[in-house]
Amino acid sequence: MTAPAKQLDYHTIHEIFTRFAASDPEPKGELDHVNAYTLVVAVALSAQSTDVGVNKATKELFKIADTPEKMLALGLDGVIEHIKTIGLYRNKAKNVIKLSQILVDDYGGVVPSSRAALVSLPGVGRKTANVVLNMWWSYPAQAVDTHIFRIGNRTGICPGKTVEAVERAIEDNIPVEFQHHAHHWLILHGRYVCKARKPVCANCIIRDLCTSEDKIHD
Ligand code: SF4
Repeated sequence: MTAPAKQLDYHTIHEIFTRFAASDPEPKGELDHVNAYTLVVAVALSAQSTDVGVNKATKELFKIADTPEKMLALGLDGVIEHIKTIGLYRNKAKNVIKLSQILVDDYGGVVPSSRAALVSLPGVGRKTANVVLNMWWSYPAQAVDTHIFRIGNRTGICPGKTVEAVERAIEDNIPVEFQHHAHHWLILHGRYVCKARKPVCANCIIRDLCTSEDKIHD
């Protein structure tokens, strides 16, 4: 990647998100889930794995175990059997069992709605917690994944040397009316348009606003 772009100004960012909002008013995450608990499990399983791969594994798992109680009844070997196509599956299965036990013991089987409580669960880091807060509680939490980190620096929408700095740049610079959906607009833009190796600039709705050195001119 080329050198990080400078932070874009307010008016350019406002225009970028106005266009994202017009083209996709209700952007959705791509991890399948049926309730807050299965969302936590799906996001925890998705670390260093693709959403498509996680969805394939959880399709059957969540039919059998969509609550922490049912997951505990399935047991570690049962969880492993379902998720063994996912990277780091043994460790992830252990964490799913441990976090399910904590939810039952300490939270009455209900997923807590604060970042501090979420990150106290095994296998749940700040990024996972922020995805859950954003997707389930519609809280404007920003989970910076590889796509957001890349395009934040490439475009100047939210540049930063670290994941935390990019998270702060989003919170500080994206107008509040776009904060809730910013997470998904940026991820989807990075996943399907502003791709890592070869951005599809010809199909980019913010092309005229983009000053990135990676922009492909044709
Ligand atoms: S013009 Fe190209 S580099 Fe710029 S945001 Fe769009 S896809 Fe990314």
